[in-house]
Amino acid sequence: MTDDISTVTVLGTGVLGSQIAFQTAYHGLPVVAYDIDDEALAAGRTRLTQLIDTYEAEVDGAADGTAKEAFTRIRLTSDLADAVAKADLVIEAVPEVLDIKKDTYRKLATLAPQSTIFATNSSTLLPSDLKDLTGRPDRFLALHFANQIWRFNTAEVMGTADTDPKVYAGVVEFANSIGMVPIELHREKAGYVLNSLLVPLLHAAAELAAGGYADPETVDNTWRIATGAPVGPFQIFDIVGLTTPYNLLSHGDEASQQIAAWLKDNYIDKGRLGVATGQGFYTYPTK
Ligand code: NAD
Repeated sequence: MTDDISTVTVLGTGVLGSQIAFQTAYHGLPVVAYDIDDEALAAGRTRLTQLIDTYEAEVDGAADGTAKEAFTRIRLTSDLADAVAKADLVIEAVPEVLDIKKDTYRKLATLAPQSTIFATNSSTLLPSDLKDLTGRPDRFLALHFANQIWRFNTAEVMGTADTDPKVYAGVVEFANSIGMVPIELHREKAGYVLNSLLVPLLHAAAELAAGGYADPETVDNTWRIATGAPVGPFQIFDIVGLTTPYNLLSHGDEASQQIAAWLKDNYIDKGRLGVATGQGFYTYPTK
């Protein structure tokens, strides 16, 4: 038997928080979405209303009123105590800044009922980095969604050694219930499954092109033809956007910094940031 999750609160209404809130509401659950002040909430509300259009255009069946209805199940607030008072599950999607995360869990530990499960959507921190602040290490784990949750519907579930298996199982069940494919990790791993695979692939591709060994098109062709994959690593770069990989590489070792410099000179400085800007390694039709 797992704990029933029927009320969800999402902290942060940014890129990912708004998507998590919308996806959860789309699958019928009431959602409270929290952000720090009225300005942040207004931006969150705009993101959520844009998601109505996106779901209507891209999700089968959403245009019959279901997406509009989903929006009505989301309540926005900047009062943290009120936001978490009745939550079975709090999904934290605040900025990827350790001090902000820590501060958030310190507050949550006292404000949320002891039965509330906390899940972090952090991409780079391990739940172990935060568990001692939660006041409930047995009811805390990572639940990591991908950008464009309605299309790329993986939800990586990763607990610490302290996470209660029943809590873990309940969160897996929840992920399933909101249309995600749960990706279960048995142990903590930086990068989860997806980025443990993807980051080395993208790095190797960039190394080949930046080192002058082969053009991006040739690298992509090789990957597609020889493995049957639908897209090559540089097409993936364009989808992800070049800014995040550039920031990561520029803080890496010397070889990574050389790749970062190549990205900057040839792409970033020319405004070629990927699909979102109409140009990256490839050119895309502008909307
Ligand atoms: P974002 O900057 O778009 O949104 C962060 C939101 O948190 C903003 O609305 C901001 O107002 C709010 N915020 C700021 N301080 C806060 C506080 N003290 N308490 C509550 N909310 C606060 O960030 P994002 O891209 O949505 O990332 C959020 C989390 O999701 C990060 O942990 C990130 O690693 C993770 N994530 C992001 C992506 C992605 O592609 N963007 C993918 C997977 C996971």
